[in-house]
Amino acid sequence: MFNSVRMRLTVWSVLIFAVLLVTFSFLLYELLARELHQHLDQSVINDARTAAAGFQGQMLENQNNAIVATAHTLIEFRPHNTYMALLTTQQQLGANYYDEMSMPTSEPVIQEPIVAAWLQEAQAKQTPVLQTVKGFGTAGGRLAVMLIPKAEGDNTEVFVVVAQSQEEIRQHLQTMRRIFYLSLPLMLLIAAIAGFFLAKKSLAPIAAMSEQAESINAHNLHERLQVSNQHDELGRLANVFNALLGRVNRSFAGLREFTADASHELRTPLAIIRGEADVALSQPRTSIEYQETLAIVRDEARRLSRIVDDMLALARADAGAHPLQREELYINDLIEECCRAVQTLAASKNISVQCESLPDIECCADEELLRRMILNLLDNAIKYTPISGSVRIELSETPTHVKLSVIDNGIGIPAEAAAQVFDRFYRVDKARSRAEGGSGLGLPIVKWVAEAHQGTVRLESRPGIGSEFIVELPR
Ligand code: ADP
Repeated sequence: MFNSVRMRLTVWSVLIFAVLLVTFSFLLYELLARELHQHLDQSVINDARTAAAGFQGQMLENQNNAIVATAHTLIEFRPHNTYMALLTTQQQLGANYYDEMSMPTSEPVIQEPIVAAWLQEAQAKQTPVLQTVKGFGTAGGRLAVMLIPKAEGDNTEVFVVVAQSQEEIRQHLQTMRRIFYLSLPLMLLIAAIAGFFLAKKSLAPIAAMSEQAESINAHNLHERLQVSNQHDELGRLANVFNALLGRVNRSFAGLREFTADASHELRTPLAIIRGEADVALSQPRTSIEYQETLAIVRDEARRLSRIVDDMLALARADAGAHPLQREELYINDLIEECCRAVQTLAASKNISVQCESLPDIECCADEELLRRMILNLLDNAIKYTPISGSVRIELSETPTHVKLSVIDNGIGIPAEAAAQVFDRFYRVDKARSRAEGGSGLGLPIVKWVAEAHQGTVRLESRPGIGSEFIVELPR
């Protein structure tokens, strides 16, 4: 159940709503209860003060002995729903600590020792003292005791006691609780149902998207998710997914193209080998003819293994399975070494390869990969430069980079092909590349090595004048 986002959203929203609702109800209830109690307290205090003032006035008029009469008059006219009593303390009172002068029908339960304590407190404070008492039904009551200021020469301490039942408050609060008990679950139920449908409605586009996405496979990678609103979160998600599909589609296309190109490249030498073998075996040949055939087979086998090697290197690079083995090296030494390696090839075309007096430049790189990159560039420069041409390597450095240029005065590369020469199996002149024993993977390897070192490679070339491949590597 909790594996569904819709369910989780609903549960979470209901939980949050429940917490908010319960907190709000609780606070409201507490506030109301406090208000009602304060109101009641204020009411008993006011009544106590009014009664005390009235009694004091009466006492002054009627003199001492009229206490009882005055008390009865006062109590008779007490406010509605209010208990009122007058108490007197006496000098040496034992068990009979107070005299009660009135006894209304509904009365609070007041115990003698407690009253003694109240009277003492009221005596000390001279203001109404509030107490909570039992009685008045189940709710109890609030009671105020106040000492009545006495006339001079009068020894009798008289207190007025006013109490009101809390029953009404209890009933109000009980009604409120009932409302909460009924309305809270109902509201939560409504919130759950509404939340569930809202979540369902908001997640409907996701359900539709996943349905569409599910139907997309390698054969219909060109299809895209439908976007109802480009600018909302789901629209952006769909756009991101569509962009991803676009990239996957392009990679797939690239892969398909690469596989087709690769199989074509592999098929050609294989076809030549088979053809040569078939011709040689079709009838007896002289040893010279067999040698010629074997030389062709050897050349094609070399070409095959070169293509396979290059493909493997690029495949491993794509898979990230070719970690760099960086080490400190003098790049000028490496260049000179590569120049010596291509000397024979260059000499066969009477091409001069100049890489003398290069500055000593140290850098941290993968020696094997750099060698492969430089050899590929030199190899291309010699292959695509006519007889008696020249190839030159320049090396320089900036505080951040090492710059290596392989410059030839060969056939050059037309501007429209310049962007593509780094693509796999791309060749400006297929026949020529084949004749020169090219695999179409030399420059892609150069690009990969440069980029693997966080560097770049670019081409500046003018057809008929020559080409310059510039590699920049961070130091
Ligand atoms: P190839 O094995 O065919 O040389 P590369 O990937 O090394 O493949 O080069 C791709 C193509 O770029 C080549 O077929 C060639 O047409 C062109 N090219 C590369 N280097 C040079 C150069 N120095 N001068 C002219 N054309 C070049």
